[in-house]
Amino acid sequence: MLLKKIELQGFKSFANKTQLEIDRGVTAIVGPNGSGKSNIIDAIKWVLGEQSVKSLRGSKMEDVIFSGSSDSRQKNYAQVTLTLDNKQKLLDIEYSEVNISRRYFRDGQSQYFINKTECRLKDIHELFMDTGLGKEAYSVIGQGQVDEILTSRPEERRIIFEEASGIVKYKSKKLQSIQKLEQTQQNLQRVEDIIIEVE
Ligand code: ATP
Repeated sequence: MLLKKIELQGFKSFANKTQLEIDRGVTAIVGPNGSGKSNIIDAIKWVLGEQSVKSLRGSKMEDVIFSGSSDSRQKNYAQVTLTLDNKQKLLDIEYSEVNISRRYFRDGQSQYFINKTECRLKDIHELFMDTGLGKEAYSVIGQGQVDEILTSRPEERRIIFEEASGIVKYKSKKLQSIQKLEQTQQNLQRVEDIIIEVE
């Protein structure tokens, strides 16, 4: 799976629509301090569903929206789109090219899209589960994260291996099924209680 393009609009320091085309091989982004290199990494994490403002280096979600500068007024929303090559069908979706977008407005309204069709955050999570590109996966390694992984507890490190081995999706489905079974068990108990009362 290849990340082909990143489009940012109103996201952090990227006030106007900015496109970054990424070719095969290694891509390096260089620039002076404070020019927005890390903001691009934040944008990738954000569009993949990051909900932690701390991880996005902010104090509230509104901080991802361009807040204005000496020559530009603040923007009302932030939008990021990733274009991924899916010819190898690593993403369980029929298209050979996949667009993932997230849009966030100052009033708190949030939208997610897969190939321009609005979807839920859950759909984005499920699409990227076990691909290594989920919001908590290992494809995006931030500053200091290597040390964090090396010094983490075995249970925490296990999560990385589980994602790489492709079992996260099944674990999540198992949990959902257990919750449904418990709900059904409770419903059955309620029905039995009602039957006893009626008899
Ligand atoms: P360094 O090399 O020092 O790590 P960098 O190139 O990674 O720097 P970033 O941390 O990506 O830089 O960008 C920081 C800049 O982004 C700061 O100038 C900050 O003012 C700007 N910035 C962050 N959030 C916003 C926002 N919501 N609106 C406008 N500008 C923002």
